[in-house]
Amino acid sequence: MKRSDSIENLSIENQTRSPDFASICAHAGQGSGDGAPLVTPLVQSTTYCREGIDSTAPHAYSRVSNPTVAALEETLGRLENAPPAVCFGSGLAAETALFLAVLSAGDHAVCAKAVYGGTTRLFEEILEPLGVASTFVDATNPAEVAAAVRPNTKLIFIETPANPTLELTDIRAIARIARTAGALLAVDNTFLTPVLQQPLELGADITVSSTTKFTEGHSAALGGALVSRDETLLQRFRFIRKCTGGIIAPLNAWLTLQGIKTLPLRIRQQSYNAARIAEWLAARPEVTGVNYPGLPDAPQRDLARAQHLGHHGAVLSFDFAAGDQYARRFVTALKHCRLVEHVGSVETLITHPASMTHADLSPTQRAAAGITDGLVRLSVGIEDFRTIIADFETAFADAGVGFNQGAARCLASV
Ligand code: PLP
Repeated sequence: MKRSDSIENLSIENQTRSPDFASICAHAGQGSGDGAPLVTPLVQSTTYCREGIDSTAPHAYSRVSNPTVAALEETLGRLENAPPAVCFGSGLAAETALFLAVLSAGDHAVCAKAVYGGTTRLFEEILEPLGVASTFVDATNPAEVAAAVRPNTKLIFIETPANPTLELTDIRAIARIARTAGALLAVDNTFLTPVLQQPLELGADITVSSTTKFTEGHSAALGGALVSRDETLLQRFRFIRKCTGGIIAPLNAWLTLQGIKTLPLRIRQQSYNAARIAEWLAARPEVTGVNYPGLPDAPQRDLARAQHLGHHGAVLSFDFAAGDQYARRFVTALKHCRLVEHVGSVETLITHPASMTHADLSPTQRAAAGITDGLVRLSVGIEDFRTIIADFETAFADAGVGFNQGAARCLASV
C-alpha cells in the first residue's frame, strides 16, 4: 500500500512554512534585552495607572487591551505574516465579533454546510432574528457558492477541513468568488492552524480560529482569534470587542502562548499518528469509510496537497456500516481514548458527533452536513499510535459482542 503524505513528507522543509516559523513559536511572547523574562509575564491587573489625564500609556483597562493578551496577539499575527491578531474568550466569541463587525440587518452571508455546529447555530438562531439572512451551501463545489451569492452578500464563511467530515474547500477558488462579489472571505482554520494552512496567503480576508483546540493544545484554556492583513477590519474587530466585552482572559492568553511554543512539534506528530491510524482503519471490515485528506485514495487528495503544508492534521472521522448503535458501543468501549466534545489536545479524543457536538442540529441539517448516526470523530494525540490502535482493536471486539446498557445510558446523557 502506498503510504500517505504524512510519511512521504517528513523532511524538515515540508514540516513548516518557513524556517522562521518554528522560531516564532518557540519564542512566543518573549521580550528582549538585558534582564527580560524568558517567559511572558502574566499580567492579571484589570487596570493601569496613568501619570496624567493625557497619558498615552498602551493599556488602560483589560476589557480593551492587556500586555499578556497583546503578546499572544502579536505572535498569532506573525504566524500569518499579519499585524497583531484580535483575541477573544473563545472561538465562538471571535466568530460573534466577526459577524457583528461585518454584517448588519438586511445583509446576507453564505456559509458552508459542513462547519462546526455552533457556527450554524449562530447564523440561524442569533443572526437570523437580527435580520441577517444566510444560505448554507456545499462549499466543496465553488459553483454552488457562486450561485448563492446575492447583491447584499457581505461575507462568505468556510471551514476547511470541515468538522467532522474533513471535507476540503478550495480557499483560492472561493476567494476569487468573494472578490468578484465584493464580499469578505473568512476561513475557520481551527483544525490545521497556521502551521499546516495559511488562509490569508491563499486569498482569504480573515482567518478565524478556536485557539481552545490545537493552538493551546492542552485542554486548559478557551480562546479564539481573528487574523487579517486589513487594518480597518482589525480596528473594527477591536471596537466590537471593546463594546461587547469578549476579550480573552490574561491567564488563558498566557497558557495559549505556552502551548504555541510546541505547536509545530505537536501538530506534526499528531498528524503523523492520524495518518497511521487512518490507514489502519481503512482496512477494517467494520468501517465503511474513513475521512482523512492524507489517505492515498482520498477524493480531494490533490487539493489537500496544494492547500496544506506537508501534513493533513490530526482529526479524522469514520463511519460504521452497522450504524448508530455500533458507533455508540464502540466509543464507550474505548479505554485509552477519551470520550469528549473537543479536539486538539495532546491526548487522543473521540466524539460521536450526532449525539454530542452536532446534537443541536436537526436530523435534516445533520444529513446536509454529511453527519450520519454511525459517524465517529477522532482527534489524535501525541501518544504512540500503536497504543491507540490496540485500544481500537479491543473496542471493536467489545462493541461487536453484546450491548453495554450502562455505557449507552451514559452516552445518551452527554
Ligand atoms: N470552530 C471549530 C472548527 C470548532 O471545532 C469549534 C469548537 O469546537 C469552534 C470553532 C468554537 O470554538 P470554542 O469552543 O473555542 O468557542
